[in-house]
Amino acid sequence: MEPASRLEASFCGKCRKQFVPVRAHCSSCRGRTERIYIEGRGKLRTFTTLFVTPDGFTPPLVIGICELDGGLRVLGEIGDYRARESLTVGEPVRVTEKEGKYYLLLERPA
Ligand SMILES: [Zn+2]
Repeated sequence: MEPASRLEASFCGKCRKQFVPVRAHCSSCRGRTERIYIEGRGKLRTFTTLFVTPDGFTPPLVIGICELDGGLRVLGEIGDYRARESLTVGEPVRVTEKEGKYYLLLERPA
């Protein structure tokens, strides 16, 4: 099993670009990408709380964008109850993926 901090991504060998979520073709050159695994650690870039949510989600829903150490940005749900009380832009988070959805986990001591 892959460690939890490893994220599935795509890589274009021609442009050297990486993509999350995985995509079969590069958005720049349309070339085929290859599957890679990247480190899912980064920093919280921005976040918001939704009080009206799409079907299948229970409000309030906290979502955020993690900027990975490699520069990629990933949008994900922040399910940690502490997120509702205190979140700080720039705090370290870890991205995991489950069934096509992305989750941002706080890297705080429990
Ligand atoms: Zn490309």
